[in-house]
Amino acid sequence: MMTIGLENLRVVLVNTSHPGNIGAVARAMKNMGLSQLYLVQPLKFPHAEASSRAAGADDLLASAVVVDSLDEAIADCQLVAGASARSRTISWPTLAPRECAEQMIDAARTGKVALVMGRERTGLSNAELEKCHYLVHIPANSDYSSLNVAAATQVLTYELRVAALARAGEATKTWKSDHPFATAGELEQLYAHFETALTELGFLDPDNPKQLMRRLRRLFGRAHLDRIEVNILRGILTTAQKGGKGPRNKVTRDE
Ligand code: SAH
Repeated sequence: MMTIGLENLRVVLVNTSHPGNIGAVARAMKNMGLSQLYLVQPLKFPHAEASSRAAGADDLLASAVVVDSLDEAIADCQLVAGASARSRTISWPTLAPRECAEQMIDAARTGKVALVMGRERTGLSNAELEKCHYLVHIPANSDYSSLNVAAATQVLTYELRVAALARAGEATKTWKSDHPFATAGELEQLYAHFETALTELGFLDPDNPKQLMRRLRRLFGRAHLDRIEVNILRGILTTAQKGGKGPRNKVTRDE
């Protein structure tokens, strides 16, 4: 079988209520050549209804990784896209399915990539959307834009397959970071460091944080930081926390 580079792609289902939908997602994925399914606190799983809707894709259910949090599901991923049925109160970089698929296929050449699908009733929370580099929205009927989660997965994984087929055999893009991209787990550590340091520096008021952390997440998400860039930012924060006296300042905060 021709390898078209879909091995690094995973679909993450958040808090799915209906086991039938989990089975239908497994089938949609396998049809498009994807195999990595992550389930964040599914309501009922394993379940006969999931297996029956999976048809011949029950191998994906057998190897599905069940985790307690979205953080766990994406911690090792270098690119995370969240599928959203509607535009939110938060404005976040949003791509059309084709464009998003191209970004994901490019990133999957060098690291793990996640497509995150929301709950049937309420979709993804703002806090979950903020963990994504991009949102992806299927431009459906604006009067009735919410697809069934497995139907949405089918559309998005189809675009991933088309993008992968188009890229197969194509030379790698002209610019590629010389270091691996930071993972979602490393970015969470960076944001936590920012929050602590900016609070210590008096720039962030924990009693009145406003939109600061959200805006920083959005900024750094757009920049698609690599590991060295994360280290530089954390080094800057640590230096500032020490009083900004520069590299000769050997005093650590605990001393
Ligand atoms: N009422 C919910 C709809 C959830 S549908 C809401 O407004 O968010 C379940 C999931 O399917 C969504 O969280 C999303 O991941 C995906 N989905 C449904 N319709 C979509 C669309 N038009 N574009 C992208 N993803 C969609």
